[in-house]
Amino acid sequence: MTIIAIDGPAGSGKSTLAKNLARALGFVFLDTGAMYRALALAAQRAGIAPDDEARLTELAHQITLRFVAQNDSQRVLLGDEDVSDAIRTPEISDLASRISVYSGVRRAMVALQRALAAQAHGVVAEGRDTTTVVFPNATLKIYLDASPQERARRRQHQLQLQGIEEPYEKVLQEILERDARDLARADSPLRIAPDAVVVQNDGWTKEQTFEHVLALCRERLGQA
Ligand code: C5P
Repeated sequence: MTIIAIDGPAGSGKSTLAKNLARALGFVFLDTGAMYRALALAAQRAGIAPDDEARLTELAHQITLRFVAQNDSQRVLLGDEDVSDAIRTPEISDLASRISVYSGVRRAMVALQRALAAQAHGVVAEGRDTTTVVFPNATLKIYLDASPQERARRRQHQLQLQGIEEPYEKVLQEILERDARDLARADSPLRIAPDAVVVQNDGWTKEQTFEHVLALCRERLGQA
């Protein structure tokens, strides 16, 4: 089994890169963030409080999650329900980041991530512990990084496309706070795996990042 794991801070472009790499390589895209989001949605529906670690952990062991390809995209199924859109609300983003701090929850999700990967011949896994905790023996580990200023500019642009105007200073402040939280959390903090290839993509387009990392993948897979 081949695993490409992509880690890095919020706003570095991990998702877009992982999605495009999976498509180019014919691999499954393992979107670990979507899994925490789906768990958050299930918890919300079950009326479980965001700080009830025991019940959240139990739920994490009970839910069934799957990724299925559909046309050019990939859908997330919770049980048999397609929750791909329902997990993208700001409310679920917030809830996912709150429930993902619990070790019991993380252990259950990591087990699920490994089980899903084991069914595929090739996986591109994206998420902030995929290179350090979930797949320590990944075929290739990428730590995708960009300066907080660059990530803030991208985020501001993304918001503008959604019709939301936010001052740059505020967006930057939020990025810095999220970085601090991700670095400081007790379980699975954001860190660079010793054998990861660091890709600093300040000033690069999404396409440039994709081409650069695809070349690294092909080299590692012996397809260069
Ligand atoms: O990447 P995404 O924004 O979809 O992730 C949602 C939340 O899930 C993140 O804010 C993070 O707290 C959590 N997460 C995590 N570990 C991962 C992926 C996501 O803790 N591997």
